[in-house]
Amino acid sequence: MKKRMKRVVGIILAFVMCAGMTLNAGAVTIDEAEDKADELEQQKESAEAEKEKLISQLNGIIDDMNETQEKLTVKEEEINAAEQELVQAKINENNQYESMKKRIKFMYEGGNTQFLEVLLQSQSIGDLLNKAEYVSQLSSYDRDMLTEFQNTVKEVEEKEAALQEEYSELNDLQDQLAEQQDQVQTLIDSKEAQIADIQDEIKANEATLEKLKKEAEEAKRLREEQAAAAAAGSGGSSYTPPSGGNVVSGNGYFTHPCPGMTYQSSYFGEIREFEVGGHKGNDYAAPVGTPTYAAAAGTVVIAGWSNSAGNWVVINHGNGLVTKYMHHSSLCVSTGQYVEKGQQIGYVGSTGQSTGPHLHFQVELNGVPVSPDSYM
Ligand SMILES: [Zn+2]
Repeated sequence: MKKRMKRVVGIILAFVMCAGMTLNAGAVTIDEAEDKADELEQQKESAEAEKEKLISQLNGIIDDMNETQEKLTVKEEEINAAEQELVQAKINENNQYESMKKRIKFMYEGGNTQFLEVLLQSQSIGDLLNKAEYVSQLSSYDRDMLTEFQNTVKEVEEKEAALQEEYSELNDLQDQLAEQQDQVQTLIDSKEAQIADIQDEIKANEATLEKLKKEAEEAKRLREEQAAAAAAGSGGSSYTPPSGGNVVSGNGYFTHPCPGMTYQSSYFGEIREFEVGGHKGNDYAAPVGTPTYAAAAGTVVIAGWSNSAGNWVVINHGNGLVTKYMHHSSLCVSTGQYVEKGQQIGYVGSTGQSTGPHLHFQVELNGVPVSPDSYM
């Protein structure tokens, strides 16, 4: 049930972002960010366990490859030995043939020339042996020796062919193992990329959590200050009572709404990560409790609370011109009240969706945000 709720919240958030409304980390609660941290940690652990499994698989393949390589080396040595053996067998066979021919020649010198012709016309040892069948004088010793040498040659040739066959099978196996190694390495690479992504998410979530906790502390501190101020009657330490006279600066149609600011932290139209369509006003960073003033005379149409704007004031100046003042720690005007140009309306704070004490000052002409600077 809880999971389902989260998904619904996610869909709403996505919709809010598409709708182009201001959204920051304030939309996530500390509990949600902590749950997400646990969830990400679990995801990372299981991804790392999978990676370990793949690595041990890879090590197994590498062991097999080393073993196969050893077998290949042994097989190569055996093939070399068989080749040597074959050469020697062929030499032995040839020596026997040559010495046999010499003996036959000697036996028949000055005698049976017909046999000598038969002998010299022989095209191979086999041919000679066949023809020699008819020659009783050829010793059975020579014949047996030659046959034996020939058989040895044949056996060694067969042995070498078998070794070559085994060698090529081992080579195929080694190719397959190399392919498996590539595949597992690819899986490990993608697992590592996944872990890096999760790591990034963990970092981002930690930053969000830290920010949320700071905001919660700041909000708590403000509430305590406000409670102390209320208990003390009129004005706590950082809540100075409204000054008597109006504060007007410059010679524009608008006076500056926060002349006590330390610096301007954001500009109208600024593109920020968490907003769609650019910043709708100017942000004036100032310590909590710095007074804020009506930019021009008009009627307060809103002086109250908004989840996004915090304690805020909206003033209608007529002719389609409206000003909005957001994130106050407290207000000193009320709805329906008429204010003069430069009249104090509240105190700077960080209420609503705000990352630190500042006044968000927004000017709208016929409902469309415009640059405040053109009126000051
Ligand atoms: Zn702002």
